[in-house]
Amino acid sequence: MNGDQMINAPVSSNNDVAGIESGKKWNTTTVTYDDDSLGSKYAAQVDGLISYAGTVSDLKFVKVDNSATADINIQFVQGITGGNTVYNNDDTQVTIQFQPLTNAGFDIGDATNGNADNLLHELGHAVGLKHPFDGSGALGGNKITLPSNLDNTDYTLMSYTHSSDKSISDGLYSPGDISALQDLYGAPAPQQTVQQTSTVTPVAQVNPFLAMWAAMFPTIAGSSPLSASPVGLTSLLANNQNNGMFASNG
Ligand SMILES: [Zn+2]
Repeated sequence: MNGDQMINAPVSSNNDVAGIESGKKWNTTTVTYDDDSLGSKYAAQVDGLISYAGTVSDLKFVKVDNSATADINIQFVQGITGGNTVYNNDDTQVTIQFQPLTNAGFDIGDATNGNADNLLHELGHAVGLKHPFDGSGALGGNKITLPSNLDNTDYTLMSYTHSSDKSISDGLYSPGDISALQDLYGAPAPQQTVQQTSTVTPVAQVNPFLAMWAAMFPTIAGSSPLSASPVGLTSLLANNQNNGMFASNG
């Protein structure tokens, strides 16, 4: 196998996010998937949808042609209403099985049927999300449920309650899904760059104080523990905001 595995993950301290986290996540930010069994037409549409899913957090999806080793296998199964996601017994592989609701396809932004939202829902399960109303801990151990006013598809595609203005599908993740995925895997790379740049600001705020303090006590400034503290603070800030680790621990 390739070493990729679903592992226990701390859930967010914010219940509006924790309520859709299963308690597990992949131990990597690059997972593989195989959807070749869908046939070329549907596979191409699903590829596009999964490519979109790879933009909402730092979790990336790489297509492979090997159902035995792919982290996520996507299959059509006749007779399933909606879809169904199953973890194998050592959590090294997840299988998504579903039946198209119509023949209309899985295009991003598709508003004519529920296929795209349905697949994004199952993909959510496959990477660590659960139903907001499920307090059983069945999927990954987390029993926190979402406040009922947020248990709708306007807030999360993991809900079974379809919002009046999103009664069918728009083929995009909702804000709660994106918050949870970023909590588990970090923000997409471009946003990380912005966050890391922002660490300059606290350093700049500390230095004038130090300069003033050094001017007031010139003889001891060089040897005081205070003179070393901005270095520690800078390091702490850099660690906290590096590659989404702060979010993943919180
Ligand atoms: Zn589900």
